[in-house]
Order: sequence, then structure tokens, then C-alpha cells
Amino acid sequence: MSVAENLAEIRSRIDELARSAGRNPEEVKLIAVSKTKPVSLIKEAVAAGALDLGENKPQEIVSKYPEFEGDSVRWHMIGHLQKNKVRHIIDKAELIHSVDSLALAEEINKRAEAIGKIQKILIQVNVTGEDSKSGVSPDDAAELCREISKLNNVRIMGLMTISVSGYTYEENRSVFDSLAVLAARIDDMKIDNVSMKELSMGMTHDFDAAIAAGATMVRVGTAIFGARDYGAKNNAN
Ligand SMILES: *Cc1c(COP(=O)(O)O)cnc(C)c1O
Repeated sequence: MSVAENLAEIRSRIDELARSAGRNPEEVKLIAVSKTKPVSLIKEAVAAGALDLGENKPQEIVSKYPEFEGDSVRWHMIGHLQKNKVRHIIDKAELIHSVDSLALAEEINKRAEAIGKIQKILIQVNVTGEDSKSGVSPDDAAELCREISKLNNVRIMGLMTISVSGYTYEENRSVFDSLAVLAARIDDMKIDNVSMKELSMGMTHDFDAAIAAGATMVRVGTAIFGARDYGAKNNAN
């Protein structure tokens, strides 16, 4: 199957899942996760209308960015971001999904201010509590939002989470429901400059449960571009 065919299939699946959850399909944005994939393949996706692209490494955004300058694509930083890499992507990222500390938000704020930008961000929450995973704990998320809300050049748009690979539909659903409940709770606090409009959750194997739980952004890589080859040079993750 071609990238365009994969995209068409995923879009119709998203449509169907949204409708069966009683939601408007237009509320669910598909982010095509292009990490490790070559420009030629990503161009196929862009030609088929996938204009929101997700990458988990700053250097991949930096190297791919110039190849798409005429294409009006929006780059989403979805992976762990080190403070010293922020300056490389600050002018390129539409949305940074993976903010999980005040220190990182402060660095983003500083770099955004320097270029006169208000950087949209999501707070990454570690719902499942695994040590290996990035993200603020659910208990600390509201306080982190409150602190970050004081920064003038970042704007919190919602929350992001990653479930556990191998989880069943029901297990994923429970993770994503927890994120939605947390977002509603933070929204109720009416913190200035904090929106809980976006819920970035769901990947190839669990976007069904995420859409049922209220995802507004699903991040899909494998189902669009095929399996990733982490053995390839410079692709180590
Ligand atoms: C790689 C990645 C995805 C996409 O995963 P697939 O299983 O290939 O759909 C989504 N979100 C994040 C944070 C990722 O790193």
C-alpha cells in the first residue's frame, strides 16, 4: 500500500471512530509521525494532504525543515526535548507536545521571546507512572500548568500522553480517560493563559481508544509510513 492509500484508510478510520463516539471527526487532527523516514516518503504524505508532521528529535526537524519550506507544513515536536536543543527548533515548531518541567518551559519562553514568538505547548503527563517515561505525574500537572502560565511567551494548549505498548483496548482507554479527566479538572481551575482544548493521545496501535476517550490529536507513524528501521545509520532512537 502507498502512503496515500494508508492515509486515506486512517482518515476514514478516524472518521468512523469519531462518529461512533458521538464526536465531530473534524475535532480530531491527524499528525503524521515522520521520524526516521526519508524526505521522499514524507513528500508523498504531504502531497496527500498530511500537513501536520511529527518528529521526536530536534535534529530531524532541523534537517528536514528546509526541504518543506514551500509546503506549508506544521512541525510538531513530540519527543523528549533537552533544554540545549530548544534554540534549534524554536522558529520551526508549531506545537511542542512534550513539555514536562518548568525549566524546559522557561528555556522555551526565553528562546520564543528572543524571536518574538508565542510558542504553543502541551504538557506531557506520565499517566502510567513508568520510570522510563517522560512526563509530569498527574498529581503535579496542575501546579506545573500554574507555574508555566506565568511565562509570557509560551501558551499551554492542553495535555499529551503516551500509553504502554502491548496494552489492551480497555487498558489504553483507561489511560486516555484519565488524561481527559485530568484536563477537565485543570480546565475547571480557570488558570489564566491555560487552555485544555487539545488532548494529544493515541498512536498506531491505540488511536481507536484515544479517539473514544476524546483525543483531538492522534500521532500516527507506522500505519502511514510503515515500520521504522532503527538499525539504519543515524536513526538510533
Ligand atoms: C513514534 C511516536 C509516535 C508514533 O508511533 P507509531 O506507533 O509509529 O504510530 C507517536 N508519538 C510519539 C511520542 C512517538 O515518539
